Amino acid sequence: PSKAKKGTTKQVENGTNVEGEEKEDKAAQSLLNKMIHTSLVNTTNQVEVLQRDPNSPLYSVKTFEELRLKDKLLKGVYDMGFNRPSKIQENALPMMLAEPVYYPSGSRPQNLIAQSQSGTGKTAAFTLAMLSHVDPANKWTQCLCIAPTYELALQTGKVIEQMGKFYPEVKLAYAIRGNKLDRGAKLQEQIVIGTPGTVLDWCSKLKIIDPKKISVFVLDEADVMIATQGHQDQSIRIQRMLPKECQMLLFSATFEDSVWKFAERVVPDPNIIKLKREEETLDTIKQYYVLCSDKEEKFTALCNIYGAITIAQAMIFCHTRRTAGWLAAELTKEGHVVALLSGEMTVEQRAAVIERFREGKEKVLVTTNVCSRGIDVEQVSVVINFDLPMDKDGNADNETYLHRIGRTGRFGKRGLAVNMIDSKHSMNILNQIEEHFNKKINKLDTDDLDEIE
Ligand code: ADP
Repeated sequence: PSKAKKGTTKQVENGTNVEGEEKEDKAAQSLLNKMIHTSLVNTTNQVEVLQRDPNSPLYSVKTFEELRLKDKLLKGVYDMGFNRPSKIQENALPMMLAEPVYYPSGSRPQNLIAQSQSGTGKTAAFTLAMLSHVDPANKWTQCLCIAPTYELALQTGKVIEQMGKFYPEVKLAYAIRGNKLDRGAKLQEQIVIGTPGTVLDWCSKLKIIDPKKISVFVLDEADVMIATQGHQDQSIRIQRMLPKECQMLLFSATFEDSVWKFAERVVPDPNIIKLKREEETLDTIKQYYVLCSDKEEKFTALCNIYGAITIAQAMIFCHTRRTAGWLAAELTKEGHVVALLSGEMTVEQRAAVIERFREGKEKVLVTTNVCSRGIDVEQVSVVINFDLPMDKDGNADNETYLHRIGRTGRFGKRGLAVNMIDSKHSMNILNQIEEHFNKKINKLDTDDLDEIE
């Protein structure tokens, strides 16, 4: 067992994570996704927009100019290499930048709940919204953004700094552990990014932020947030301190019921924007199985097909960290160049491994399930299940199987999946998978490879 380092994920060998570790895992995955998404994720799906006031016109923009941003901000946007708004930004930006609506009872801001997968431009969107709403002449905190972990807060902070590069009058402070400030000293920075606990301290106990003066509140990664003990309550306590006129914005990559319930408590009268994930399908995948008697024979079979699979890029999945480490070492001994992605690595190390693989520096990536969940490596066209995915009860994990080898409709290049069977149990899992997807998986004779070549 490895010691947990900062920013690492603890992975339990048999795949069943104790609760706390699973939650930590979610934050680490989210961070990893942020680090590897150096460009927008493509999507052909339409954005769904639900307006609070269905009678008001629905604005969407196709260019950043239409948003009438301050020159300094537009310069920042272009400097980041953005040419036009992403799918979600087309609708979210005009909504977030809209003036509050005036009612006799007082003005009401345009609040927003937005959901789309990682890499679709949410962070860039709310960063731009915060920077546009700030008045740099006022030396107090006006925008407050909370993120689930220290690392995620830093990552978002970097985006704010980068986007605001040509707008140096606007200052940013980090409300994260270790950043100690004196009680009563008022913060001058206009934007604060932090974790819920520290932000709450700064607003209530230390009173260095006056929550009544906040005009934009952003809650990022709501799904990760509620998975962390105490964060939900802290977030709600922060939100309760803010004035009614404060614009509330909430973002999430996924939207289970629990996230939805939380979102509705934090964001009153919301506009809602949703972007569906591309559907995954097995239709364009050739699926095979190879029959072996044990781990060693699986290795031999893998070596036999190695030449065929490395024509493209391949990912090999193992059930445990130990098997993954062993397999990578054995393949290396055979003279193959492989990369290993493993649970004991820090998020930074993992991001570096994935980046190298993406660039094609290594053509084969050996990994465990927990480690690679949620990572999209689009160009991988060969998947080897050295161990079949199963849940903690030993049944087929169909969802993971689909996610490992499924292709989105749009990137529906033909793919190849090879499942290695070495026991009655694994054969049983294979049969369950065949049945679930109602697709036959053919036997592959590794001495006769014409089929896959
Ligand atoms: P999310 O918060 O949904 O994960 P990000 O805002 O982090 O997405 O964006 C993902 C990646 O795409 C980042 O590298 C970001 O710099 C880039 N990006 C965001 N918006 C645009 C855009 N309009 N044009 C080009 N790239 C963009």
